[in-house]
Amino acid sequence: MTYPDTYYSRTVTDRKTRPPLSGEAECDIAIVGGGLAALTTALQLARAGRFVAVLEAKTIGFGASGRNGGFVTPGFSARSEAVSASVGADAARALHHLSIEGVDFVRDIIDELAIADARPRPGLISVLRYDGGDAFRRYVEETARDYGYELEYLETAALRSVLRSQRYYQGLRDAKAFHIHPLNYLRAVAHEVERLGGRIFEASEVIDCDLSGPQKKLRTVQASLRAQHVVFATGGYTGPVLKRLRRAYLPIATYVMVSEAAPDLIAQAVATTDAVGDNRRAGDYYRVVDDGKRLLWGGRITTRAAAPAVLARELRREMVGTYPQLAGLRTELAWSGLMSYARHQMPQIGQLQPGVWYCTAFGGHGLNTTAIGGKLVAEGILGVSDRYRMFAPFGLDWTGGAIGLAAAQLTYWKLQAQDWWRERRAGEGVTT
Ligand SMILES: Cc1cc2nc3c(=O)[nH]c(=O)nc-3n(C[C@H](O)[C@H](O)[C@H](O)COP(=O)(O)OP(=O)(O)OC[C@H]3O[C@@H](n4cnc5c(N)ncnc54)[C@H](O)[C@@H]3O)c2cc1C
Repeated sequence: MTYPDTYYSRTVTDRKTRPPLSGEAECDIAIVGGGLAALTTALQLARAGRFVAVLEAKTIGFGASGRNGGFVTPGFSARSEAVSASVGADAARALHHLSIEGVDFVRDIIDELAIADARPRPGLISVLRYDGGDAFRRYVEETARDYGYELEYLETAALRSVLRSQRYYQGLRDAKAFHIHPLNYLRAVAHEVERLGGRIFEASEVIDCDLSGPQKKLRTVQASLRAQHVVFATGGYTGPVLKRLRRAYLPIATYVMVSEAAPDLIAQAVATTDAVGDNRRAGDYYRVVDDGKRLLWGGRITTRAAAPAVLARELRREMVGTYPQLAGLRTELAWSGLMSYARHQMPQIGQLQPGVWYCTAFGGHGLNTTAIGGKLVAEGILGVSDRYRMFAPFGLDWTGGAIGLAAAQLTYWKLQAQDWWRERRAGEGVTT
């Protein structure tokens, strides 16, 4: 298995490897990529009795899907106000419902396939790092009214009794959100695809394709595959095979670290098994893993891959700033991964031409949205729904290449500065 060294690769339970594709082969639907978008699509098609073949360049779960924070929560990378502004309030509401469906899908799969190794734990607490007055209370009411979705409001004392940080003011608890070991989840999904007759090939990078006729053809270094439909689900690792996709996304790196085992010390700061995220536009997120023994902490983005060890120092500074009691907690390991971002920050899900599908650009909010992507693309191929068209307003716009990357980094720094300024004003007693 060719995985980067992460907490997940160290604790993965199924270590099966899969051979590369060889010779000339044929299937109903060929899926390029071996992340959650690809495997969820494969799962839904295999469940419907279609013969699917998945081609993964390295090892399944090598990309973002096997190394992320593990938070499964409603929503998208794009902020809800931006989605509303672009498609209108009704379509935005329908999309948000879809994002909740994605969370339910992951939970149901874990239940149906009894994926105990995914170690699902319920609960996500979103925290404010400045005094937001009754902003969170209002949000709880709006969410219940608009989506029938219940959130619990946590006032400062209640919040600080479980998250022992003076930096936090109010919190929201989502009891339906949960967190998982994403690599174990993904590998169990792959296993189910194979049980249903699907084939998965590793070390099978697609290097060329001919998509012109009714029979599409994909080529790897040593083999070729024909299919009626092809799905591209290559996320932040998308290469030059399909130029339209390559031009339509920015690869953005982000970082995670995991601590040494120190359960008593960690419990002095984080006295909950809930996952936690702060509401800064460029915020941090964390959760206890390994039955409370370790703390997994993620955050920061860069548009150029930086050494994880360097970024881990920044994350540590952030962690100790939030929880001074964790100053002695050693970082054991840090890693990075690439996310795929479109200009509009929404997923790119759709059909490029008859029989050619794309399912990508899930950004930093991919665990629920890859589930939606897989479901919708499968429904489109099976002809049972055209719900994939809900993403038609979010097309494959050019991201601007190197200039687009530089602009993304500048935007991130601007957001960081705004977050800092807002907290500083709050520290001076100015409520926003
Ligand atoms: C560090 C980190 C933390 C994150 N935390 C969270 C979180 O807590 N919650 C959340 O919802 N989201 C999170 N995300 C985002 C989420 O992980 C991604 O949005 C999601 O996993 C993307 O899935 P994917 O299948 O589109 O892409 P990937 O999982 O990246 O899969 C793409 C695959 O395609 C393969 N590939 C590429 N080109 C080819 C080719 N030519 N031929 C064959 N194979 C190819 C790659 O090898 C790769 O395995 C995080 C992301 C990162 C990086």
